[in-house]
Amino acid sequence: MKLRTKLWLLLVVSTAASMILFGFSSVWIGKVANKGYALFQLNPLAQSVVDLVEQQPVFGPDTVKPILDQAHAEHPAIRWMWLDDQGRSIYDTAGLNPVYSFKDLAMLMQQLPKSYLTDADVHVLTQTDKDGKSYFLLLSLPASAMKQGEVYFLIRKISSLLTLTIPLILAFSLPFLLAIWLFSSINRRIRKLNRALNQLNIQHDSPTVTLIDASKDELGQISRHYNEMALRIRSQFTEIQQFESKRKLLLSNLSHDLRTPLTTMLGCAEMIRTGNYKDQHELQSRAKIILQRCRYMDKLLDQMLDISRLDADDLTLRLAHHNLSEIVRKIAVEYFMILDGGQVVLDVDTPDEDIHLYMDAPLIERALRNLLDNAIRYGKDGRYLGIRLTADGQSVSVIVKDKGKGIPPEHQAHIFERFYRVDSGRSGEGLGIGLAIVKDISLAHQGNVELSSTPNVETVFRIKLPC
Ligand code: ADP
Repeated sequence: MKLRTKLWLLLVVSTAASMILFGFSSVWIGKVANKGYALFQLNPLAQSVVDLVEQQPVFGPDTVKPILDQAHAEHPAIRWMWLDDQGRSIYDTAGLNPVYSFKDLAMLMQQLPKSYLTDADVHVLTQTDKDGKSYFLLLSLPASAMKQGEVYFLIRKISSLLTLTIPLILAFSLPFLLAIWLFSSINRRIRKLNRALNQLNIQHDSPTVTLIDASKDELGQISRHYNEMALRIRSQFTEIQQFESKRKLLLSNLSHDLRTPLTTMLGCAEMIRTGNYKDQHELQSRAKIILQRCRYMDKLLDQMLDISRLDADDLTLRLAHHNLSEIVRKIAVEYFMILDGGQVVLDVDTPDEDIHLYMDAPLIERALRNLLDNAIRYGKDGRYLGIRLTADGQSVSVIVKDKGKGIPPEHQAHIFERFYRVDSGRSGEGLGIGLAIVKDISLAHQGNVELSSTPNVETVFRIKLPC
């Protein structure tokens, strides 16, 4: 069943139920909380007593008294009087037997029905005839014996019902119309939301369905959440796609990077096995090639291990106090030896005093080596490699600088992402995770890593660690 039909049914049923409930509850509550005589009861009550009297052969005190006494016993709040046509009391249940002139009686009746709204006594006069003479039954009761609230409709002709029904219909239809208007607008907004959810497409090149709902109510909030969610899902999906394509590229680069040195190694090993070399010098150079390729493959395998460790979030720190100055100096000496004979100038700048830090020394060494290897591999054209260590009381910085080709500005924001490489098509240079590892190591030490690069001028990586 559609929501609109449901609403209609609900409104019709609830209106009928509320009318019935109103009728029953007002009568019931009226009986309990609004005790007393209703105005419309008094005339029939008087008439019933007159009917009893009319059955008597004569309307004298003897015949009237038991009837009025009986009526008084049943309705003690009412004073009953039987009057003749001269206004003389034939019997009075109050025992006062007054004499009324026509004027007195007229005055008693004069204020009716206005007197029902005041605290004055209420009187009802009922007339009957016997032997050509008129007799009257006069009922008097205090206002306190009447109901304290009564509502009446007087309908003389069926056509006059309209005067009642039209205002009633108008009064009832207003909340109906307002409820339907409210519901229709809510329904429309829900349908819009539904349609947008159905059309939600996470492909980044498909058009986005943006919901415009400025209202501050719950549906407005849901619409805004939907817009944010759709954007987030799309951007995450794009990230996943990019990650996936980088991963595929990584695998193809990796297989190429492993096969190339293997082929060289096989060739060299075969030459050594068959003794097909000129002299001892050639033998040494072939062995050196095998050694180099082995180191390269070892490094690749190390990086692959790093990928799986990063995937498993397995970067647990083994913290201890270490002398960072000593570590930097030791690594600088290592690289001095590696660069020995080359054209790259090594510039080392460390403070004289020792800098002690609470850190995982092998990991920090690893990060520094990654930066130095990159500076040599990608920045060798600048023929400069700088290593600097500084401390300012709050933090310690390890800076690696080169003056090579650098990293173009459009790549700098992504350079610390996993598998990101400036020249992603080229294989044989790395897997694109060295800098991601540097970043992870820095963050794990509550520090960070920053890059500033002006291509062919200077490229600076700075690992900043808190003291
Ligand atoms: P890998 O070196 O294994 O490719 P990295 O994460 O270490 O991965 O480096 C990512 C990319 O950043 C490299 O492919 C390279 O293009 C660029 N890069 C890193 N360091 C430098 C540098 N000093 N100079 C120029 N480019 C660099």
